[in-house]
Amino acid sequence: MVTAPSPPRGTERVDVAIVGGGHNALVAAAYLAAAGRRVVLLERSAEVGGAAVSEAPFEGLDARLSRYSYLVSLLPERIVRDLRLDLTLVRRRYSSYTPLPGTDRGLLVDTRDAAATAASFARLGADADAAAWGPWGEATGVAARALFPTLTEPLPTRAEAARRVGDEAIWRRLVEEPIGAAIERGFADDLVRGVVLTDALIGTFAPNVDPELAANRCFLYHVIGGGTGDWDVPVGGMGAVSGAMRRAALEAGAELRTGCEVTGLDPDGVVAWRAAEGGARSSSGDPVAAEGLLAADVVLAAVAPTELARLLGTAPPNPPVEGAQVKVNLLLERLPRLRDASVDPAAAFAGTFHVNEGWAALDRAHAAASAGRIPDPLPLEIYCHSLSDPTILGPVLRERGVHTLTVFGLHTPHRLAAGRDAESYRTELQAAVLASLDAVLAEPIESVVLRDAAGRPCLETRTTLDLEDTLRLPGGNIFHAPLEWPFLDEGAETATAAQRWGVATEHPRILLAAAGARRGGGVSGVGGHNAAMAVLEAG
Ligand SMILES: Cc1cc2nc3c(=O)[nH]c(=O)nc-3n(C[C@H](O)[C@H](O)[C@H](O)COP(=O)(O)OP(=O)(O)OC[C@H]3O[C@@H](n4cnc5c(N)ncnc54)[C@H](O)[C@@H]3O)c2cc1C
Repeated sequence: MVTAPSPPRGTERVDVAIVGGGHNALVAAAYLAAAGRRVVLLERSAEVGGAAVSEAPFEGLDARLSRYSYLVSLLPERIVRDLRLDLTLVRRRYSSYTPLPGTDRGLLVDTRDAAATAASFARLGADADAAAWGPWGEATGVAARALFPTLTEPLPTRAEAARRVGDEAIWRRLVEEPIGAAIERGFADDLVRGVVLTDALIGTFAPNVDPELAANRCFLYHVIGGGTGDWDVPVGGMGAVSGAMRRAALEAGAELRTGCEVTGLDPDGVVAWRAAEGGARSSSGDPVAAEGLLAADVVLAAVAPTELARLLGTAPPNPPVEGAQVKVNLLLERLPRLRDASVDPAAAFAGTFHVNEGWAALDRAHAAASAGRIPDPLPLEIYCHSLSDPTILGPVLRERGVHTLTVFGLHTPHRLAAGRDAESYRTELQAAVLASLDAVLAEPIESVVLRDAAGRPCLETRTTLDLEDTLRLPGGNIFHAPLEWPFLDEGAETATAAQRWGVATEHPRILLAAAGARRGGGVSGVGGHNAAMAVLEAG
């Protein structure tokens, strides 16, 4: 490790300064403090956890919702074990339910009942796709088992990754040709094609058949988690996940400062910060100084690359990064009735409930958004946390049969917000979400929305503008930056540990440690783990 030049007088010396306090920052802090490094983490918000937090947003109601991220797939068992994270993840029995818009029929995929699933395909007239469904899943399973373990190892080369997958056809489908083209070949039914495609479009604005392969990269990360691609429900909500990581970091001896806005950093490892509104606090909650400087051997940028560029005073990425989703949290008196009376809402909402996500609907929605319009109908993914884990509700709400609903609306790229004020954009998107959902229900969703202590409907909508404002997600991008392949680019440098782990920046003392690191997107801890491994490997 290079020695830092003398910092200004009064500067605090640390081994590792971590900028940002999301879950990746906590993972890095835990590993490095456990290895004996003096670690100080600086988070601008009053709480750590970033996009992996739980909140009780509805006044007077004891419901702690996962405010942003909600399901866990990409968190490796290795990190859970190493950091002794006390977590419980619940596997969902129903993988998905997709109503056929304009009808009272739909597709229910029940992982424990193959016959019922086949019958559901048959009712849709999609028997041939029922036969293709299993082999498609098995093929992605081959890639998942081969590639997922590599996420917490130095990056493999492209050839090594292909060799590990060991099947040319699967490799070609996932990595070399647009995944949409493979879906069109593999499935005949519009609805089934759409259900498969959605994994390629979460947080990624891309056409159905995407020649740039951004949809493939998104698809890959959505199907390899845990070697199975399952998306599990964290008991206690996302706050329980980042809470366990926070405990691990504190127990290892890291100092976690909140209310500390980093205002600048230089390539020599000097970090400037000042207290955010509400004041700066130490790990124990005591007030700390209003501003300060840290001089670190290594700085881990656990923020988006765009934020890192701002702090360094360098140019932001071009083209600008953007997200493409809207998130709505709801609290309901009870689950709504479906137009499709043959399916129990408790089964339909327990898995991923797809609304207006047929192949043609997704194509039209992409075209509308590309032309500057909010798609109508808006494609949605919905799920009910409280069906799998009621612990996020207090006893009174549980007793009343209250449920939470989480809606993730697709194809709303940040560019649609240009020139609009935050509130009217939020209102417009919320209306689009509710209208899209209503089309598949037997009663308006608003008729079952609970009211808070002040009589307001329990609805919370977060647009890309809101995410930029509260979490500094550039353009509201949930992955901080466009997703990259989980292997080295042709001709990539591998001289340093940071390059081998996919966490390098152009400054040797500054490493990426969050979602924008290669392989870091989602609630995985992988960005933090890999930055910590690069620091330890460099010695
Ligand atoms: C609405 C939404 C839904 C999602 N759903 C899922 C899901 O279900 N499953 C999943 O796996 N992933 C999901 N994701 C993605 C996932 O949540 C993120 O990729 C992940 O949480 C990023 O974690 P991180 O630690 O890398 O960064 P972040 O969580 O973004 O944390 C970065 C932290 O840095 C702080 N910060 C920024 N600038 C500064 C500064 N100058 N000084 C000090 N602090 C600063 C921020 O306040 C923030 O706390 C979702 C994301 C969103 C937004």
